[in-house]
Formats: sequence, C-alpha cells, structure tokens
Amino acid sequence: MPNHYDLLLIGAGHAHLGVLRRWALLERPPGRIALLSAGPAAWYSGMLPGLLAGRHNPADCQVELQPLCRAAKVELIVSPVASLSAPQQRVQLEDGRSLSASWLSLNVGARVACPPQQGEAMQLLAVKPFDAFLNRWQQWQAEPQPLAILGGGAAGVELALALAGQVPQLALFCAGPLLDGLSAGVRLRALGHLRQRGVLVREYCPIERIEGDCLLSGATPVWRGQRLLLASGAQALPWLAHSGLGCDEQGFVLIAPTLQSYGHPTIFAVGDCASLPGARKSGVYAVRQAPVLAANLNAALRGLPLKRYHPQRQSLALLATGDGGALLDWHGYSAGGQFYGRWKDYLDRGFIQRHRL
Ligand SMILES: Cc1cc2nc3c(=O)[nH]c(=O)nc-3n(C[C@H](O)[C@H](O)[C@H](O)COP(=O)(O)OP(=O)(O)OC[C@H]3O[C@@H](n4cnc5c(N)ncnc54)[C@H](O)[C@@H]3O)c2cc1C
Repeated sequence: MPNHYDLLLIGAGHAHLGVLRRWALLERPPGRIALLSAGPAAWYSGMLPGLLAGRHNPADCQVELQPLCRAAKVELIVSPVASLSAPQQRVQLEDGRSLSASWLSLNVGARVACPPQQGEAMQLLAVKPFDAFLNRWQQWQAEPQPLAILGGGAAGVELALALAGQVPQLALFCAGPLLDGLSAGVRLRALGHLRQRGVLVREYCPIERIEGDCLLSGATPVWRGQRLLLASGAQALPWLAHSGLGCDEQGFVLIAPTLQSYGHPTIFAVGDCASLPGARKSGVYAVRQAPVLAANLNAALRGLPLKRYHPQRQSLALLATGDGGALLDWHGYSAGGQFYGRWKDYLDRGFIQRHRL
C-alpha cells in the first residue's frame, strides 16, 4: 500500500529530533518510516529570544530536517497534519493526502492560549508557530508601537527582555506571580532586569477579555494599545481532542510511562502535546524523553519489551536577559550575569550542532 507506513513520526519537536539523531548514529528500527513536519526546518525555541534581540541569525536557530532524515533513512513529508483518527491509525494532511501507519508517534507541541476578543482594534500575535510569528514581527517592527505581552512565564520574560528598547513602551501581564514555579531569587532578578529596561510588569493581573483596543482584567481596563504578543501557557492543538485519543481535561494526550497513549498503545505521544504526571511542558522535558522514545519505537517495531520514562524532579532553567547575559535557576539556587549567558549560548548552539549531522 503506497500510503501505508510502519511508523509515522508526527511533528519535528525536540524529542523527534533526538530520535532521528539516535537512529542516524546508531541502529534504526526496521520498516518504512516517515517524519511529517509542518515545515522543512525545526525551530529551536531556546534561541528565539536571542534571535529577536539581534544576537543570532535565523539559520543559527533551526535544524534542517532533510539531512537529518536522510541520515536516519527516514522519509520527510512536509505538510501540516490537519486531523488524526486514532481508531483507524490514519492521518489527514493539509495538502489532501491521507496516510496510515501501524505505529504513530506524536511530538507536535502546543499552541498559545488567547483570551476572547471583541472587535479588531487590537492586533494579536502568538509566539507560536515561530515562522508565522517572525514574519509578522518583522512587519510590526517596520513601524514600532507600544506593545503588551501576555504571559509571565520563562517565554514571556525572555521575550520582554529581548524586545525592551525595540518598542516605544512595553507592558508584561501575568495571571499570577512572575516566573511562577521558579525560585524567589530568580524572580527578583528578573523583576530587576525588567524594571531597569522600563518594562511595566503587572503580576496577578489575569487578562480575561480584549475589547477593542483595551485589555480587561475582570471588568477593569488595564492597558490600551494596538499590539498584543501572546506568550501565555500551552494550549492543546484542537485536532488532538477530536482524534479519539484519551486526553486530559485540557486536551493533551494522556500517556503511560512507556510514552504510549492509554487506550491506543500503538500511538506514542511526547513533549508539550502529551500529559504525564511530573513531566512539565518545557523543551527540557521533551529532550529527555528522546532516548526513551527512540528505544521504545525501536522495541515496538521489533516486538520487544518497552522502557519506562521517569521525569526528572528538577530542571535547570537559563533565561536570556537580552543583553548577552542569562539568569540561572537550579534547585532553588539563582544567579545571573554574562557568564551564564555564554553558558546558555554554548548549550543552545550545542543542541543545534548535535542535530546537524
Ligand atoms: C520564546 C520561547 C522560549 C522558550 N525557551 C525555552 C527554553 O529555554 N527552555 C525550555 O525548556 N523551553 C523553552 N520554551 C518552551 C518550549 O518551546 C516548549 O516547551 C518546547 O518547544 C516543547 O517541545 P515539543 O518537542 O513538545 O514541541 P515543539 O518544539 O513545539 O515542536 C513541535 C513541532 O510540531 C510541529 N507541528 C505543530 N503542529 C503540527 C501539525 N499540525 N502538523 C505537523 N507538524 C506540526 C511544529 O511545527 C514543531 O516543529 C520556550 C518557549 C518559547 C515560546
């Protein structure tokens, strides 16, 4: 059957990049395998703030998929997935093709949450997908205007620090405390950097609605302007909830420690699109799932027993401060400065290099 595969890897997320690298360097499982990707290259989100701050070139922040797939002997199919039917193990592509597979693996990430909007006076720009974001951001930058950023997590803070100075006025809104979940030390350091750059930070200020050119928290107008950048929490891609896969209440695919979907063990899911207790929605966790996923897909195609993935309890956070420096958060310990920025660059460039075989 020309449209049937032994395995389809869906999405060029962090974990699938690691799987392809391992298969290129070590042994690949038997059978016909393809990677379905929305584009010919995969962006590395960790370098996006550096790109916006003018410290990296676009080519530094992407992994070209064709050479990696060729080395892993995996077919590359460039077309976004429109829908998935888990019971039929079938994928519908946006270009009209329909593909089926004995095994599937999902690593499609998540999209960005957006409050309901009335009227069109405010232009909204989601930070993901990155291609669309960067194109539109370039257009915005041709005529800089005051900007609000929604989301006080690591992504929102890094973006605010990268963009401060590039727009006439910048405000950052978060529903709870800034950098919730990280140490008090790194939070204070981040607040200091943001204040120093003139960013207005509004903590505990959830934006519930956009009306015209106004952001509303409850019934209170808290900001007026025409441009809003969305960097708030991960939201599941809508086609996952319609796929027949078991999903949590937010629409993320429920998985077992073997990374298999509950109810559909021939479908694996990893990274931000999956839901597993202890695994946070961050690139670091997706990267750590790669070796287990590579081993389990290999074992599944050979009929061998699978391994279990155990999420790490702590993860290192390095947040770019937009001036070449970075803030570090590790086990409640915080630090900051140019040294950590160089270390972050070294780790980020190392990630890209490892996948450019
Ligand atoms: C500005 C910013 C900075 C960040 N910095 C960090 C950081 O320093 N460290 C960290 O750990 N996390 C960071 N994150 C979070 C991190 O980006 C995500 O948690 C991480 O990318 C999730 O990895 P993933 O492998 O699940 O999916 P992703 O890396 O998001 O990859 C998903 C892939 O699936 C593809 N895809 C999506 N839909 C489809 C479709 N329909 N069909 C085909 N392909 C599709 C996408 O194009 C993409 O290639 C940052 C996020 C942002 C926005």
